[in-house]
Amino acid sequence: MNDKQGLTLALAKGRLFKQMAPLLKVAGIELLEDPDVSRKLEFPTTRPDVKVLVVRSSDVPTYVEYGAADLGVVGKDVLDEHGGRGLYEPLDLGVGACRLSVAGRPGSDWENARQLRVATKYTQQARAYFSEQHETPVQLELIKLYGSMELAPLVGLADVIVDLVDTGNTLRANGLDELKVIRHSTARLIVNKAAAKLKHRKISDFTANLARAVEAEKL
Ligand code: AMP
Repeated sequence: MNDKQGLTLALAKGRLFKQMAPLLKVAGIELLEDPDVSRKLEFPTTRPDVKVLVVRSSDVPTYVEYGAADLGVVGKDVLDEHGGRGLYEPLDLGVGACRLSVAGRPGSDWENARQLRVATKYTQQARAYFSEQHETPVQLELIKLYGSMELAPLVGLADVIVDLVDTGNTLRANGLDELKVIRHSTARLIVNKAAAKLKHRKISDFTANLARAVEAEKL
């Protein structure tokens, strides 16, 4: 259960966590155990009134939407895929910068194709892109995958993929090209709307501290 007095923050492990840890530290919050080593999913922090839940990144908005966490940190791409119901998004944290892109084999004629098989984890955004922004209408077949998307064009499962790209190393290592950037994304702080009212003081202090840490990081 969410603590009625304190604050509960939902975070995802992995690359975003590594980039968030220094910002949280500047804001006075450090986990008392390393989530990459521990098997725990709930962590106390150096601030007795703040605890951290470690969940899958695509689950962060859900935990916050239902109030199991008051706040969360999540990529804009994941937030858009969720839809942002019941959430405020008060702060762009600047970290976790990446882009959602179409990728495929070099020289792929995907833009003129009448039929296109697209493998992605981001089905909502891929559907929106291909139905609204792609110049020619295509007969679209979306194949939902949960990982290793880069394999799909290599083994003929899909013509192209829609996936996150950061350095481009994963695409290059698999002989794929980034064909089109759909949108850019950074991590956002999200807040449960009811918690924003009930814990107004704590949440606005937390947000202000984190905003200061983000500004300090830019200097
Ligand atoms: P890169 O090789 O640096 O371009 O990273 C690409 C791989 O990391 C792909 O498998 C992506 O799904 C994943 N990835 C890149 N950026 C992010 C991010 N901000 N959040 C989660 N996964 C990411």
